[in-house]
Order: sequence, then structure tokens, then C-alpha cells
Amino acid sequence: MKTTLKRFVLTAIFAALSVAVSPTGYAAAEKSRVIEVTGSDAMKFNVSEITAKPGEALGVKLTNIGSLPKAAMSHNWVLLKPMTDAEIAKFATAAMSKAPEYLPEDKSGILAHTKMLGAKETDTIEFKAPTEPGEYPFVCTFPGHYALMKGKLIVK
Ligand code: ZN
Repeated sequence: MKTTLKRFVLTAIFAALSVAVSPTGYAAAEKSRVIEVTGSDAMKFNVSEITAKPGEALGVKLTNIGSLPKAAMSHNWVLLKPMTDAEIAKFATAAMSKAPEYLPEDKSGILAHTKMLGAKETDTIEFKAPTEPGEYPFVCTFPGHYALMKGKLIVK
């Protein structure tokens, strides 16, 4: 009886401690904030702007909500280092011939990317937002899509 009570008290203390610690605890801080992104047959992302804190743990869950065949209409989500529109165009052009993932030979400009997804497919990635405040473009690299399927991650 005595032992049971002692164990109960200890369990209660541990429970109270873990509740008190969890909001700022390591596990809670490491949990990614997942942003749900969709790509459609109209070559549109539902999200054109994402704001994040420097170094924030992020997730992107990309879903291709279209119904066209994969070879005609696929989407990915590729986060790039800060670059001009001309540099993005050059990057996307280099990716055009690289079926089926459509990522260029030189991947040095890529910070994070999902798989290339056909209709109704989903891919979730986790990554850390850059620690340097700024604007980081994201695009779909399926041939011809980058001009319409684009947005920016704003780190501030
Ligand atoms: Zn696309």
C-alpha cells in the first residue's frame, strides 16, 4: 500500500513536470509546421507566399489535385536560393530535359524539393527555413510550369 502510494505520487510529479516542460521542450520546438500546398491542372499552386522565422522547422505537403496523365501534367515544389527571375528561368530551362524528376544537373540552387507528382499523388518534405532573412523563390519545374507555378518563402 505504502509503495503503491509512493509510486502514484512520483508518477504524478513526473506528469506535472512533463506538462510544465513540454511547451518549450526540445520535442515541441522540433515539430515542423506543415504547409499544405496543392498543384492543379490549371498550373496553379494554392499558396504563393509562405512566411517563416529564420531556421524554423517547416514541412510542405504537396498534393497534385488534378486528373490529367502524369506525362502531361505533373507538379513538384522546389525551394530555391534567392535568385532573379532571369536566374529562375535559366534554372527551369536546365531542368526541362531531365525527365521524370525535372531537376537540373546542377542542384546547388536547390534548398529543398518534393518528388514530381502525378494526379492525386502526395509528397511531404521537412526542412529548416534558411537562417538568413530574405525572399526565397519556389517553383514547379515541370516543363513550362515555372512561369505560373511560383511563389516565395519570406524569411523574417
Ligand atoms: Zn507543375
